[in-house]
Formats: sequence, structure tokens, C-alpha cells
Amino acid sequence: MLETISCLISPSMIHDRVKSLGQEISDYYNQDELTIISVLSGSVLFVADLIRELPQESTQIGFIGVSSYFGKTRKKVRLTNNLSIDVRDRHVLVVDDILDSGKTLEYVQDYIRQSGATSARSCVLLKKTGAPSTADFVGFDIDDKFVVGYGLDYNGYYRNCPYIGVLENDSV
Ligand code: 5GP
Ligand code: MG
Repeated sequence: MLETISCLISPSMIHDRVKSLGQEISDYYNQDELTIISVLSGSVLFVADLIRELPQESTQIGFIGVSSYFGKTRKKVRLTNNLSIDVRDRHVLVVDDILDSGKTLEYVQDYIRQSGATSARSCVLLKKTGAPSTADFVGFDIDDKFVVGYGLDYNGYYRNCPYIGVLENDSV
């Protein structure tokens, strides 16, 4: 079945906001050593752009894999890929694609604190209306709709769509 995606956030809007978000984060950490932990797989496009706005001499990057969705059916959050780097005694910023119930971020931040991090803050590209205000840095506030593109998927597809959009299909 052919789905259409209606554009919600264009590539240039994403570009501009990621740049200013990078500045906010750089100002906040102010030369402190920072470890970015990207939550696989939805945040990879976002994190790839964001890290290029952060200081090269004081930023490390790692990954963690968690799963909470199968299609649109919510599941319990579980670890699928362990932390790729040591976060002990580090200031950590968890980067995820979207904040919905907040369960994913809560799970990952708890896991990072238990792994010995000095601090565990969070940054999301998107926050849905009604989501808890648990993220320290937010790119865009959006309506409570299922979105895809710029890393976000539907059953594994659309991650490589260059903009963020809403899938227009009754069966989704
Ligand atoms: P939460 O745990 O906050 O409910 O959900 C966060 C995770 O659910 C995100 O990392 C993302 O993988 C997935 N998710 C939540 N809403 C959406 C959405 O609208 N589109 C897509 N593609 N994934 C979503
Ligand atoms: Mg995710």
C-alpha cells in the first residue's frame, strides 16, 4: 500500500533548530567534558547533525539500544544494545528522537546513573503534546500524531526521509 507523508518540519527548519540547540547545549556545559549517548536507532540522524555543533575537543559519543515499540503497539522498555562506551564519572547527555510517554528516557537515564555517570541529562528532537516535561533540551513541540522521517521509522521504513512528516494512511 502506498502511504503519503505530509511534511510537518522541513529540512531547513530542522537544520536551523539543530544549530541553535547545539549552541544551547554548548553554552550549558560550557567546556565541561560531555558524553553524548544516542538512543538507537531513531536518534542517529539527529545526533549526527547535533554533534557537529558541539565542541570537538570535549565531546565523546556513544550509543545504547532500547526497544519499546513494535509498529505502534507499545511494549515494555528493554535493553537491546549495551552502552558502547564507559560513562563512569562523565557528564552524560542522552539524545533521543521523540518524547512521548517518557518511559524510554526514564529507563535510559536510570541505566546511565546506575552505570556511574556524574550527571544524566536529556535532549529530544521532538516532544509530543501531553508528554511529561522530563527532557532538559527540546527541539520542537508537536501535536500528538505518529510521525516519521529524519530517523523516525514506521516498521523500519522512512528513517531516511529528509523531513519529519505525518503518515497519511488510515491503516497506520
Ligand atoms: P516513550 O517511551 O517516550 O513513550 O517513547 C519514545 C520512543 O517511542 C521513541 O524513542 C520512539 O522510538 C518511539 N515513538 C514515540 N512516538 C513516536 C512517533 O510518533 N513516531 C515514531 N516513529 N516513533 C515514536
Ligand atoms: Mg526510540
